[in-house]
Amino acid sequence: MHDQKINIQPSCEDELNTGLLSVAQARARILDAVAPVRTAETLPLREALGRVLAGAVVAPLDVPSHTNSAMDGYAVRAADLPEEGVREFRVPGTSWAGRPWLIPIEPGQAVQIMTGAMMPEGADTVVMQEQVERDGDRVRIGSGHHCGQNVRAAGEDVAAGQQVFAAGKRLTAADIGVLASLGLDEVAVLRKLKVAFFSTGDELRSVGEALGPGEIYDSNRYTLYGMLRKLDVDIVDLGVVRDRRELIEQAFNTAASTADVIITSGGVSVGEADFVKETLEKLGNMSFWKIAMKPGRPVAFGHIGETVFFGLPGNPVSVMVTWFQFVRPALLKMTGETAPSVAFTLRARTSSPLKKRPGRFEFQRGILDQSAPGEFVVRSAGAQGSGILRSMSEANCFILLDPNCTRVEPGEEVEVQPFQNLI
Ligand code: AMP
Ligand code: MG
Repeated sequence: MHDQKINIQPSCEDELNTGLLSVAQARARILDAVAPVRTAETLPLREALGRVLAGAVVAPLDVPSHTNSAMDGYAVRAADLPEEGVREFRVPGTSWAGRPWLIPIEPGQAVQIMTGAMMPEGADTVVMQEQVERDGDRVRIGSGHHCGQNVRAAGEDVAAGQQVFAAGKRLTAADIGVLASLGLDEVAVLRKLKVAFFSTGDELRSVGEALGPGEIYDSNRYTLYGMLRKLDVDIVDLGVVRDRRELIEQAFNTAASTADVIITSGGVSVGEADFVKETLEKLGNMSFWKIAMKPGRPVAFGHIGETVFFGLPGNPVSVMVTWFQFVRPALLKMTGETAPSVAFTLRARTSSPLKKRPGRFEFQRGILDQSAPGEFVVRSAGAQGSGILRSMSEANCFILLDPNCTRVEPGEEVEVQPFQNLI
């Protein structure tokens, strides 16, 4: 007799995805399980741009190193300035930037001074040149000035001995400028992460090869490459690995012995005809998660030895979504950056109707625009299939739709997460 029922598995068609991990839970587990690199290297200042400081930086000197003028004008003693009317001062000479006037100022004198030039001894105030009348070696100054105006104190930017930056800061253009202002020509930063990746699937061909029947070009290695470049990590591209047990095992072993992180795409969903899962279970300590998200439901995460492993789904959009939600935050933590720039979300009015099935959190691709200062509008980037990579090319944000949302009407507000310049 035939059984009247078949045993069905949870699938992406289910409305109630009970027992699935939420995006936030998966991200939290991943962030908990990765640790920052520790090894440091000392680099010339320019090469340190974009890298993460290995230790705190303490100022070896004052910036500015001397009290100086913020304006072109006349350096005087405030006590000599008239409370009302006009007073005439004698101008004994000029203090140039880099060529100071070294004679202490005397009562009734005004030393001509340039922006950045050292204040003459005894002077405490600068009157802008536009606010005086110069006549030969005399200058006439009126009332209304106050003591200390237009003067930059030594150490007012950074004082010697003060901590300028904490460890874990990713160095920006401004930061390497600050380090240069301290006279530092090199700096200790954490080493770069090394990330290996490969694609799995018998159907995949690399660009430059001819396609046979049923074959497709491997695009994930290119999107992954591009996204990794954004994070300035060392990249090891291990190519396409065919669905053969020994090849996959070999690829994992090679990657694990050289890299801090391995990222693969494909081969982690239910019923795969390949050996990725089996090999991972054998080589490492792995979790295969079904995450209540779309796209990107199946993700594998774990360790092979010391190496962190991300097994992303094969669909091209899923790769980019799971990268942005899970891999990127984890890699940023691993680089040692203590306050990585988060991916902000904001609220925008949608001009397209948005539809979804209940059950999973959706990352729809959208095009975000500003309609007025502080006012945002978003529209759908078109077909939302997880294989339609062009939707990612056209989009500049994800539209974040809650699991129980089924429909959003034009004119309603949605939460969006811009990714432009981040991936
Ligand atoms: P999988 O997760 O291996 O079942 O793959 C899901 C879908 O993504 C299938 O249609 C695959 O052909 C496709 N896919 C897997 N890997 C790649 C890749 N590297 N480039 C483009 N498409 C891929
Ligand atoms: Mg596959």
